[in-house]
Amino acid sequence: MVTTHHRPDGDAMGSSLALGLFLEHMGHDVVVVTPSDYPDFLNWLPGQHMVLSFDQNHQSCIEKVSSAEGIFCLDFNTPSRVEKLASILTNSKAFKVLVDHHLDPSDFCDITFSFPQSCATSELIYHLITKLGTEGPLSSSIGTCIYTGIMTDTGSFRFSSMTADTHRIIASLIELGVTNHEVHENIYDNFSIDRTRFLGYCINEKIHYLPEYKAAYIAITNQELERFNHASGDTEGIVNYALGIKGVRLAAFFCERDGMVKISFRSKGDFSVKEMASMHFSGGGHANAAGGKSTEGIQMAVQRFLDILPSYCERLNA
Ligand code: 5GP
Ligand code: MN
Repeated sequence: MVTTHHRPDGDAMGSSLALGLFLEHMGHDVVVVTPSDYPDFLNWLPGQHMVLSFDQNHQSCIEKVSSAEGIFCLDFNTPSRVEKLASILTNSKAFKVLVDHHLDPSDFCDITFSFPQSCATSELIYHLITKLGTEGPLSSSIGTCIYTGIMTDTGSFRFSSMTADTHRIIASLIELGVTNHEVHENIYDNFSIDRTRFLGYCINEKIHYLPEYKAAYIAITNQELERFNHASGDTEGIVNYALGIKGVRLAAFFCERDGMVKISFRSKGDFSVKEMASMHFSGGGHANAAGGKSTEGIQMAVQRFLDILPSYCERLNA
């Protein structure tokens, strides 16, 4: 079994499907269990036949987790990231292997491969497969999954995590037969008209710009999501438009979801949002990309953010 974090993104699905396809190629009976559904823009990835979503297949997911011989935990660092699956996962007798690139992994697996300096879990899976793969070399299907994970977690190969070695991996995936332009089109030129209009609304009417803090934020209510016929994945990446404003070093996106408020933080340079997310919003993540939540309602969550900003003012303006 392979599993990954709640609300899986491109790297979560890319790494899980790549490893799943490799294990299947090696003759194993593989299931990829996702704690929740994944967005439509990932539903073209190879290996969908292995996926069971806890949202759709409650009971069979519980059975798979409980009866698996081995469980690979990919792209998350602590059991709470699989949400409702957490206790079932930690109680499972299966041999567990963590492969991840988030900071501070907790000790819940039998083997922990933690490489926070790596740009994507999919990159780690590339190394794992190429080092294990005497019998099962990379196929272009596996390569497509890995390419997708690296592309999405590096903002299309542009973040500071993107190294010369990672570019070489990407080159080798293209040589393997991955049609790179198709991956970009499938992910980035695949938005519904509702999502495109929602993005326009966020940019035009919802960005609060706080130049004194080099910050900008967007807060979206349930009613606003409904107005734009919100579908899973529609809010993905919108925080980056706030971060893209000249001079902005800190961006936040607040959104009502599942009866609470989910917050995405992004930053530039050496201002870390991981601490802000973990100290004030029960979350975590990376230095320049983190997330958290609040149960106090969207107005209170935004107010908390505005209240703590002065304490970060000096670092934001450094
Ligand atoms: P996103 O804003 O795209 O949801 O998440 C950005 C980063 O923050 C991801 O690397 C993700 O793993 C991490 N993250 C998001 N939400 C949470 C959370 O609630 N808890 C923790 N620990 N990390 C989170
Ligand atoms: Mn990742």
